[in-house]
Order: sequence, then C-alpha cells, then structure tokens
Amino acid sequence: MYVSNKNAKERLDARTYFEGPKPSKEAIKAYPEIKGTRCHIWLGYLLDSGYGRICFNRRHVMVHRFAYEQSFGEIPNDKIVLHKCDNKPCRNELHLRLGSHRDNTLDKVTKNRQSKGDSHSQALRDRLLTGENSPCGLLTDRDAEQIRFKFNSGINSRAELATRYKVTYQIIDKIVKRRTYVKKK
Ligand SMILES: [Zn+2]
Repeated sequence: MYVSNKNAKERLDARTYFEGPKPSKEAIKAYPEIKGTRCHIWLGYLLDSGYGRICFNRRHVMVHRFAYEQSFGEIPNDKIVLHKCDNKPCRNELHLRLGSHRDNTLDKVTKNRQSKGDSHSQALRDRLLTGENSPCGLLTDRDAEQIRFKFNSGINSRAELATRYKVTYQIIDKIVKRRTYVKKK
C-alpha cells in the first residue's frame, strides 16, 4: 500500500493536529532522543483501540503507520510501528520507530504499562495479534466479533453490516466465515 508522494505527505500534514503532551518520564528514559519534542495528536478519526485512522487512496490506513511511511519509507512485512512516547494518537514521526511484536511486549514492560486492568491488556493483545494493526486494518477485532454475533444471531445480513460498518460486502463475508480477524490463541 506504500505510496510515497508529495500529495500523500500533504494530506497527512493538512489534517489538523495539536501539540500534545510531552512524553512521560518513563518514555523519555527509554528513548532519550525524544526528549523535548511534544506529541502531535491526531484529531481525525480514532479507532476504539486509540489509534488514528486515515482514508487514503480509498483505503483505510493507521495514521501512525502512514506517518512513518511518509517520512522513512516502507514498513517491512515483519515489522510493526511502535510509539516511543506511548501515546497512541500521536503522529509525530520522530516518536515512531520500527519494532517487532516482541519489542512491543518488552517496551510495555520497560515503561511499566503492563496490564492495567483487563480491557487494557486485552486491547494490547488485540493490537499485537491481528488484523487491526495491519497496514489496511479497517475494523477493530471488537467490531469483527460484533459483526459475527449480529450475523450469526440473524440480527443483520451481510449487506446491512457492510453498510453499517462502512466496509465492503466481501470483507463482511470473510469475517463471518472466519477467514480474517481471527484471534490467534
Ligand atoms: Zn508522541
């Protein structure tokens, strides 16, 4: 999906963002190079997971991934984009770095943000494991679960769900057939 052109960069920068808080002490300690620079908070659409999402070339992409690619180039397949500042809606490219799923877990421990309550750790697990963190993640894992539930219990048809969640019929079809957005055990 990687598109590097001036237009894309302008599109990202044209969106309003404000100078957010400075990264936490723990974050600065872990990544001293972000010292003194503030977070740039994305004011556009946010997913339930707290990450920003942008629509680009008719596809949905995560804002932090998009920002990273526009500044540093394509994200290798086996890598994910992590926030040094630990601030999910931040789109300041200087606060982003490449890492692995394992790094993310280590990071979490270093910055002492591991499992603050169930929903928090569940959200992190969701993010680590599945579709949502993929370059074109359209829906959250929670959305996918709700879609399956609504379809399986006969509340909505695939077409209705497609309209409601603003995705294609094909995506809904794959979700109900459990071909995508399936949590790894
Ligand atoms: Zn930041």
